[in-house]
Amino acid sequence: MLSVKTPEEVCEIIKTQFAPVSDRAETISYTEAAGRVLAEDICASEYVPAFDRSTVDGFAVHAKDTFGCSDSIPAILQNTQEILMGQAAGFTLEEGYCAPIPTGGELPRGADAVQMVEYTEDYKDGTTGILKPAAPGHNVILKGDDVYPGKPVLSAGRKLTPQDIGALAAMGIVKVNVVRRLRAAILSTGDELVSPEKSPGPGQIRDVNSSLLAALMTRLGATPVLYGIIPDQEALLNRRVKEAAGECDLVLLSGGSSVGVKDAACRVIEAQGEILFHGIAMKPGKPTIFGKIGSCPVIGLPGHPVAAFFITHIFVRRLLAQLGGYPLREIPVMAHLSESVEANHGRAQYNGVFLEEKDGRMTAHPIRGKSGLITTLAGSDGYFCIPRDCEGLPAGAKVPVTLYSMDG
Ligand code: AMP
Ligand code: MG
Repeated sequence: MLSVKTPEEVCEIIKTQFAPVSDRAETISYTEAAGRVLAEDICASEYVPAFDRSTVDGFAVHAKDTFGCSDSIPAILQNTQEILMGQAAGFTLEEGYCAPIPTGGELPRGADAVQMVEYTEDYKDGTTGILKPAAPGHNVILKGDDVYPGKPVLSAGRKLTPQDIGALAAMGIVKVNVVRRLRAAILSTGDELVSPEKSPGPGQIRDVNSSLLAALMTRLGATPVLYGIIPDQEALLNRRVKEAAGECDLVLLSGGSSVGVKDAACRVIEAQGEILFHGIAMKPGKPTIFGKIGSCPVIGLPGHPVAAFFITHIFVRRLLAQLGGYPLREIPVMAHLSESVEANHGRAQYNGVFLEEKDGRMTAHPIRGKSGLITTLAGSDGYFCIPRDCEGLPAGAKVPVTLYSMDG
């Protein structure tokens, strides 16, 4: 019998039944770290900037020397030595003086503001006219304004962006602890399956799930390990699943997850480990199995590629976060349905959509077509869920769309 769980119960089971893998962090170079998940909090250990800097090309001044000046009554200051890029200023600016300074140049001691060159006039007699007052701190970034020793900058669990890599570079943090890539075993079962390179014979179809799941694992930051197509032979499947569970952090077993005679996934998991549940009250994806062999999660996915995809995106993504010990980040896009969508089967219904933005309004076009068609998935941007107790949504209803490109 199927012990069917709701999607919410499945999320809870993932949290309570699976622990983060013990050796989950590795140290890598910051240049390799974009897209990886931080396994540590990053705090600055230096001041950035390390010295007071100008943010414009202009003249370093004592702010009070410029108070009250204007186009008609410039503040006339004595020129002093020029500040050079990449070098210490190395002098003290006395009151009544100004020093030419480039963007990023170090402010001399004593100076507390910079006036832009556009608001100055060179009198060619060793003096400069300042035509606009500069308040203290004007056009200046002070030492430590960006970060200072001990300042928390990035938190564990963050998927590092190119901007983050830039921040690491600025702080001189060239090694980071990240969550290691989890190894996801992928097995496709079914007598009817042939490799996509081959021409299917009568009654045969190409194996979609191996490559679909592998690409999805890669996108989610895991390393796919392909165990190939396995015919519906229980003994063979048993052997391969055992190998996979021994070699990988999780096993995705596609096909044979229903209750037919040939559907061996349940028996195979049970023979070597335990079944946590069989069946999720959702559409697509009902015949899904969660089990474990030792501490290795084994997920029996429906062979139907659309269902396998949804289950993996919704639940295996969570499982990866749990095993990796990082939080899942989901930022849905709110969109209005372009047409009504019916749902009355007492199961949570996940609907693919493609999004269109027009005149500042985001519209979600529900994907129509028979659910068995892989092309209903290709070309869509994400999905929304109609809860099981809801009979459908009218055109114009606002729904949160989870994007497939959300790879957290
Ligand atoms: P099953 O879950 O094994 O009962 O399969 C359900 C449906 O999905 C059947 O129509 C299978 O032919 C199809 N199917 C199973 N595995 C795959 C696969 N790897 N690629 C494409 N279709 C599959
Ligand atoms: Mg099958």
